[in-house]
Amino acid sequence: CGIVGVTGNSNAKDILLDGLEQLEYRGYDSAGIYVNDQHGDGFLVKEKGRIADLRALVGDEVVGSTGIGHTRWATHGVPSVRNAHPHVSANGRFFLVHNGVIGNFAQLRETYLQDVELKSDTDTEIIVQLVGKFSDEGLDTLAAFRKVLSLVDESSSYSFLMMDKEQPEKLFVAKNKSPLLIGVGDGFNVVCSDAVAMLTQTHDFIELTDGEVVIVTPDQIKILDEKDHEIKRKPFHVDTDP
Ligand code: GLU
Repeated sequence: CGIVGVTGNSNAKDILLDGLEQLEYRGYDSAGIYVNDQHGDGFLVKEKGRIADLRALVGDEVVGSTGIGHTRWATHGVPSVRNAHPHVSANGRFFLVHNGVIGNFAQLRETYLQDVELKSDTDTEIIVQLVGKFSDEGLDTLAAFRKVLSLVDESSSYSFLMMDKEQPEKLFVAKNKSPLLIGVGDGFNVVCSDAVAMLTQTHDFIELTDGEVVIVTPDQIKILDEKDHEIKRKPFHVDTDP
C-alpha cells in the first residue's frame, strides 16, 4: 500500500515512521520497518494496526542510518504481524517491502522454493526468498534481483524496495505499474510511493520508469535501464509546503 526508504541519515527510523504516518490516509492493516547501521546490524519491527502502535514498539535500541518501511493492504494472506512487511530471505540477508500483487507467485514457489520453509502467506515473501536463493547460488545482489524481476509475469504490479545486510547502505529499487519516487536529500536520499511521505525531507524527486533498476546510496542515485546502462534524469521540484 505505502512504501518509504532512506539511506545515509542517522535519523532513519524517525524519517520512516513519520513518512508512514503521512501515508496513513491511504488506509492499511499493518506496518513495519527494517533499519540497519553501516555494519549491517539491523532491527526488524512489525505490527498489526496503527503506525502509533508500531512506533510504540520501536525502542531506543533501534538505531541505524538506512532503512525501509511499509504500510500493508493485504491481498495474499490475512492482516497479521507475520504477514506484515518487510519480509526476509531464509539466509537472513535480504529485506523487502512491496506494493502490489505478484500474479505468478504460486508457480514461482512451486518451481524454485519447494525446499524453503516460508514464514508468511504473502506473494511478496516469494520474491525475497528467490533473491536469497539466487544469491546463495552465486549471483551478486543486482544479478539476483534482476533474475527475479525477469521471472515475475507481466500481469504483476509492484514497487519493490530491498536491502542487503552485506551492503548496508544500499537500497535496491524497481517498479512495474505501481508508483515509486526517489527523493534527493542533502547528504542522504529517500524513496517513497507518494511524495507526501517525504516532503519534510526534500522537495526534489526523481520519477522512475517501469523496467528500470535503481541503486540508491547516501550520495548516489544510479538508474539502470534493462541493459544495465546508466540513465541520467533530473529531479522535478514539488512546490507545496508539507
Ligand atoms: N500483495 C502484498 C501483500 O499482500 C502487498 C500488498 C500491498 O500493496 O500492501 O502482502
